[in-house]
Amino acid sequence: MADVLTELPGVGPSTAEKLIEAGYLDFMKIATSTIGELTDIEGISEKAAAKMIMAARDLCDLGFKSGVELLKQRQSVWRLSTGSKELDTVLAGGLESQSVTEFAGMYGSGKTQIMHQTCVNLQMAEKIFADLEGVVEEEMENPKAVYIDTEGTFRPERVVQMAEGAGIDGQTVLDNTFVARAYNSDMQMLFAEKIEDLIKGGNNIKLVIIDSLTSTFRNEFTGRGKLAERQQKLGRHMATLNKLADLYNCIVLVTNQVAAKPDAFFGVAEQAIGGHVVGHAATFRFFLRKSKGDKRVAKLYDSPHLPDSEAVFRITEKGIQD
Ligand code: ADP
Ligand code: MG
Repeated sequence: MADVLTELPGVGPSTAEKLIEAGYLDFMKIATSTIGELTDIEGISEKAAAKMIMAARDLCDLGFKSGVELLKQRQSVWRLSTGSKELDTVLAGGLESQSVTEFAGMYGSGKTQIMHQTCVNLQMAEKIFADLEGVVEEEMENPKAVYIDTEGTFRPERVVQMAEGAGIDGQTVLDNTFVARAYNSDMQMLFAEKIEDLIKGGNNIKLVIIDSLTSTFRNEFTGRGKLAERQQKLGRHMATLNKLADLYNCIVLVTNQVAAKPDAFFGVAEQAIGGHVVGHAATFRFFLRKSKGDKRVAKLYDSPHLPDSEAVFRITEKGIQD
C-alpha cells in the first residue's frame, strides 16, 4: 500500500508529486534519506527537508530500539551457502542478508566465480538457511538476483555449467537473474538505484551483486585531485547498497580489486581499493588469494561479530566447492 506523502508537514500535492517523480514513494524512503538528497529536488529547502525526514522517521518508528527488538530483527537475517562448507563455516553459516559482503583479490582469485555461484545457489532451497520464526516463508518464494557487471565478465554459460553441476536447471537460474552491464560509474550507481523499482514492480530481489564495485571509479577518477569526488560518489553508492540490504532483507555482495599498499614497511602488502568509505560500509570483508591448482584461500579480516579466520575452497567445473 502506498503511503500518502501529503501527510508529511509542508508537503502539498505538488511537492508530493515531485517526491514521487524522484523515486520517494513511501515514508521509509524519505525517513532514510539525507537532507542533501531531498534538497536536490527542485523547490525543497533544507528546512523543509529536515522536517519531512523527522516526521517520516516518526511514522516509520525509526529511532531507539531495545536490545530485544534488535535481536528479533537479527532473527530475520537469512543465509545463503557459498557452495563451500568451509567458507560457510567461516561465515557462521553462510552469506548474511541485511549486510554487505566484500570479496577483494587479484585477478583470477575467484571473485567472479563466487558471484556466479551465489546466483545458482539462490535457486536451491537447500542452500538457503532461514529461521522460520524470523523469516516468513513467502519472503523467500521465487527469489531473484541482480548482477551489475562492470567488467564484462558475467557469463550465462558459466551459470548454466554451475547449475548443471549442482543438478538444477540452468535456464531457471538465468530467468531469475537480472544482469546489467555498467560501462561507467554513473550507470553503475543508476542501476543500483533502480533495483528498488524492480522490487516495487513485484520482483522478489534477494541477492544484489556488484562485480566489481570499484573498477569504474578507479578508471574515471584518477589522480589525487579527484580523490575526494571519487570517495564521495562511492560513499553514496555504498549507502544505496546498504539501504537495499536493510530495507528488503537482501544479501549484497561486492567484489573489489587490490592495490599494493604504498607505505608497506614489511615487504609487499595488499589492500582493497576504496579506503574507509568501502571499509566502513562493508560488514564482512574477505581477501581471496590463489593457492595450489584450483584451490583458493579466503581470509575474513573484518566483521562485527565473527573472528578473523581463513577457509580453503576450490573452483571446479561444477563451481565453488570444498
Ligand atoms: P576474479 O577474481 O578475477 O574475478 P574469477 O572469479 O574470474 O577471478 O576466477 C577465474 C578463475 O576461475 C580461472 O582462473 C579458473 O581457475 C577458474 N575457472 C573459471 N571458469 C572455470 C571453469 N569453467 N571450470 C573450472 N575453473 C574455472
Ligand atoms: Mg572478476
